Amino acid sequence: MKNMTWQDIIRLHVHCPSREGIGVVALPQGQVPESLLILADRMNVALDSAFPVEIDPSWCGARALPGLRGSRGNRVRLGGALAGKLSPVALESVLAHELAHLKCRHWELLLLGTVLAALGGLAVGLAVDVATWIRLLLGGGVLVLAAAALSWVAEYEADSVAARYVGRDKVAMMLEELKNNHFRRVPELTHPTDALRLHRLRRIRIPRLPVP
Ligand SMILES: [Zn+2]
Repeated sequence: MKNMTWQDIIRLHVHCPSREGIGVVALPQGQVPESLLILADRMNVALDSAFPVEIDPSWCGARALPGLRGSRGNRVRLGGALAGKLSPVALESVLAHELAHLKCRHWELLLLGTVLAALGGLAVGLAVDVATWIRLLLGGGVLVLAAAALSWVAEYEADSVAARYVGRDKVAMMLEELKNNHFRRVPELTHPTDALRLHRLRRIRIPRLPVP
């Protein structure tokens, strides 16, 4: 089973008529392509030993799910609708990007950043001598802008860390394919557009990994 490709797995869980309408499928380690486990090992990311991947057949997205103390370990949730649109190379980069979020512990950055931004928003709201609704607007604005900025930083960093491990060309191919599929055409609070990510990836320096 370890030699199954993502395309095989997506066919099995997404395109199989008998499985229509099913929810999230947790894949045991033995049903995950070995390439993911090798990549996670290279990136020094410990995935859940029982169910490292979840497939959400109808979802068009991918997400890193950090392990919480006392519950399951780190997992990657992959949307079947997204995986079905991408080439194997682009899919490998999607997984590298999600592993990079886990490697960089971005959920901690976002959590801490959001708490600090909330305090900053509160301070701004209290510091200005204006009507209450303007205080709330200013305080909320600081919180939303700071959280969005942190999320964008995390996305850009995940692209560059992924490029270190799978190569800039492969990550660029992923972003090209996402762009061609009109995945994210307009900027969102949590993510820059695919075009912005591609533009940045092509300009930055990707540090070489030391030869093992
Ligand atoms: Zn991301």
